[in-house]
Amino acid sequence: MELKIYVDRLKEGQEEVFEGTLPTSFLGTDPLFQETLFLSAKACVTGDLLILKLEAQTAAFLPCSICNEQVLVPLELTDVYHDKDLKEIPSVFDFSDLLREDLLLGLPHFTECKGNCPERQSIKNYLKQAPEQDTSSVQFPFSNL
Ligand SMILES: [Zn+2]
Repeated sequence: MELKIYVDRLKEGQEEVFEGTLPTSFLGTDPLFQETLFLSAKACVTGDLLILKLEAQTAAFLPCSICNEQVLVPLELTDVYHDKDLKEIPSVFDFSDLLREDLLLGLPHFTECKGNCPERQSIKNYLKQAPEQDTSSVQFPFSNL
């Protein structure tokens, strides 16, 4: 499936539908996405505008924020709308960059493996120990008095 809208062929009130599974190679490798994504897009022309509605489902490999292990995180776009001025676009509008931007913006800022990283406990222990060491070093000089 080509992510191209032939704007000059799209008549007022007509709708062009892009629906199906496509390879995620156009999304690049940073982050790495699962092999395919499901896309459901609709394009139509209203007045001077091209209206594009995007829906997509895929998953991306992101590092766990705690242990840095790669985690496959589901990613979904629902009802994302774009409008483009027809005067600013050539007769063919490639929306793969637009879709890529939307997917990257949809990535979570925090990722944790299995929703509960096994390394979380060891980090907690480390954080608990640090202030205790400080207290003992503060008390030490007074023990000589
Ligand atoms: Zn983790």
